[in-house]
Amino acid sequence: MAIGELVKQHLGTVFNYCDTLDHDEIGRLLDRQYSLKTFGLSFPFCKLVDDIVPSESKRYWTNVYLVRGVRVRVTSQWTEKHRPRFLAYLAAKGLATEAEALALEASPKRKVRAVPHVSSRQNARYRGNAIGNAQNAFVRNILSRIGTESFSERDWQATKEYFEHRCAYCGVEGDLVIEHAIPINRERLGEHRLGNLIPACRSCNAKKADRDFREFLKDTPEAIMRIEAYMDSRNYVPLENSEQMSMILNMAHGEVAALADRYVAIINELYAPSPAAPEQVE
Ligand SMILES: [Zn+2]
Repeated sequence: MAIGELVKQHLGTVFNYCDTLDHDEIGRLLDRQYSLKTFGLSFPFCKLVDDIVPSESKRYWTNVYLVRGVRVRVTSQWTEKHRPRFLAYLAAKGLATEAEALALEASPKRKVRAVPHVSSRQNARYRGNAIGNAQNAFVRNILSRIGTESFSERDWQATKEYFEHRCAYCGVEGDLVIEHAIPINRERLGEHRLGNLIPACRSCNAKKADRDFREFLKDTPEAIMRIEAYMDSRNYVPLENSEQMSMILNMAHGEVAALADRYVAIINELYAPSPAAPEQVE
């Protein structure tokens, strides 16, 4: 597959990652230095539609993506030399398919050590944290894909109008980002559905972090009521307090750790030094 097609095929996944898993990533993808460092691109991975001047328009594909409340176009300036770095990016963010991960390993420009030598002490230091991230990412991925509902930029504009182009938390006007009122995690069971998306200013977005909107707004009940009315208007019925859903997600969460353990065992068995191995008899 041509590199341009490969990139295009993954834009949905990459931007979904920005919307649901790492809220700061879109800011980095808009940055020229980050794009140079990460992909080797001489243009930013994507650019705000409003910032693209006519003379550079041909450097960006025409499709417009709505990511975290901003409209962007993606650079078209990809050549084959960018392929390994794009694949490495997908792999690092957990977005690569198995086939792509293999292609990356087979890539001649990239030296792949058979097994990275990690001392057991270092291993213990990183292991717990790393698998916890993978488990949570897995749960968020499931929650953000439930249902078949999709929404467009027009729907998002209507949502901003509903809140009169103000932050749904503090009421300030101005630069608004997409915010999940109920966070997407296994405790809160928020989903990536229109009814769970509200406009927020960057300051509230950062302050609220992983809290539920009702907890964050406990001193302003009228703001809570307004958001609940909005959820009703978009037919969003939160999954919270669904014991069955919690049970399923806890199972998924546990299975990721078990899966990692299984592969660690396979690899350890294959690569462990075995001085007592019997010699091959011809
Ligand atoms: Zn605010």
